[in-house]
Amino acid sequence: MGKETSPSPHVVIFPLPLQGPVKCMLKLAEMLSLAGIRVTFVNSHHVHRRLPDPAYFSKYPNFRFQTLPDGLPDGLPDDNPRSGDQILDLLWAMEAVSQPAFREILSSGSPAATCLIAEGVFSWCASVAADVGVPLLYFDTISPCGLWGLLSLPNLIQSGEFPFTDEELDEVVAGTDGVIRRRDLPSFCRIKDVNDPIIQLVIEEASHIPLAQGLIFNTFHHLEAPILSQMLTISPNIYAVGPLHAHLKSRLPGGEHSIASDSIWEEDKTCISWLDKQPSKSVIYVSIGSLAVMTRDQLYEIWHGLVDSGSRFLWARRPGSVLGPGPKHGDDDVIVPLYLSQGTKERGCVVGWAPQEEVLAHPSVGGFLTHSGWNSTLESVVAGKPMICWPFHADQQVNSRYVEEVWRLGLDMKDICDRVVVAEMVREVMGSRKDEFSERANEMAKFAKMSVSPGGSSFLDFDRLIKDIKMMKI
Ligand code: UDP
Repeated sequence: MGKETSPSPHVVIFPLPLQGPVKCMLKLAEMLSLAGIRVTFVNSHHVHRRLPDPAYFSKYPNFRFQTLPDGLPDGLPDDNPRSGDQILDLLWAMEAVSQPAFREILSSGSPAATCLIAEGVFSWCASVAADVGVPLLYFDTISPCGLWGLLSLPNLIQSGEFPFTDEELDEVVAGTDGVIRRRDLPSFCRIKDVNDPIIQLVIEEASHIPLAQGLIFNTFHHLEAPILSQMLTISPNIYAVGPLHAHLKSRLPGGEHSIASDSIWEEDKTCISWLDKQPSKSVIYVSIGSLAVMTRDQLYEIWHGLVDSGSRFLWARRPGSVLGPGPKHGDDDVIVPLYLSQGTKERGCVVGWAPQEEVLAHPSVGGFLTHSGWNSTLESVVAGKPMICWPFHADQQVNSRYVEEVWRLGLDMKDICDRVVVAEMVREVMGSRKDEFSERANEMAKFAKMSVSPGGSSFLDFDRLIKDIKMMKI
């Protein structure tokens, strides 16, 4: 990269406007601010209105938010058309509606932007950045192993292996040391049509990533070293700076106590006082994140499995996370009180949205039944909690495979949602194999924390990122 040009570079950060990406890019933005970099954080109106404490960032004089429309209708909080199965609508709407507004923000920045950090899925940002003359770094907020799976798609198409039939899903993908089966590839690899818009979008993303000057990841070297080396074949600069939620804490002068909440749903903290009353490592925490939607049948299977396992449980059941007829968001308003009144009340707690990092760090929590979103996976890794993985979309299929097969931090329930299996897996993770999984999880948590401490790999990668940004030429 070129010569240092300005004592205070100006970085424009543009996340995919959804809970997970916004949360982790805000952490990066705060770390850049702490390093003295001027930051403009571009948020959608939809997300920005829901952020609980945007004023928190005013403590950084060089930090500002800019907002733009995401192109989708913006109704009441319960009327949210931004769930996982509608991502394509969001991406199309953004390309049509947000793109001109974003181009204006990037080109009219004062002082001029010296670097753009954009979500990897925004292929169109490569041409906007080139037109405006601003160097681009992509930040793929999904896992590197998930991105690697996604990037393998063009080759699978070229070799004639894709699309797969349902009978071929257990075949191993070549070049993955037997780790990845076709069913472990990102969810859209199950689509049968090469011309499907989402497949075309993935192909476009794969061809645009090498156009950026570098790639930022929310991961750490110990977790994904082989994949990170592979990434160097498509990008000259790889920065593995995660887990970002832990990294920010290690750099903030006040440590974790000074951190703002970045949940776009209101956190129900009553579950913490409930957890306080439970025995050590006795509770399995259940959440499917901010986007996934389950059917009513799946809800019943998970519910029965949890109850039958005999374990204590805390379920974060986001409004809108259950499909189906009946009252607007499924009829769990009927079954939850039913079960709670039938003797499970003492060992079950249900909230709409949990303070997840605090929950995972709680000593009463012994495991996490998760949809394997990347933020949730990293939060579980840092907290040293074993996982039962029930993946839905995108990188989650790859993440859950890595949790079981590579990192050995839990079990992969992929493609199955059956009360008997749920109960068995909960008993295994919380009982018969508890010590084995806890030992692995504690060990990985140590590596995660080391990586974000001074001298650790993520700490050094972030310092290198700052240095490179300061050298960028416009
Ligand atoms: N989360 C939370 N409370 C909940 C459920 C989720 O705070 O009840 C947070 C969680 O800590 C994580 C994010 O929402 O940071 C979800 O991101 P992830 O990448 O795991 O999944 P996504 O929602 O993008 O599918």
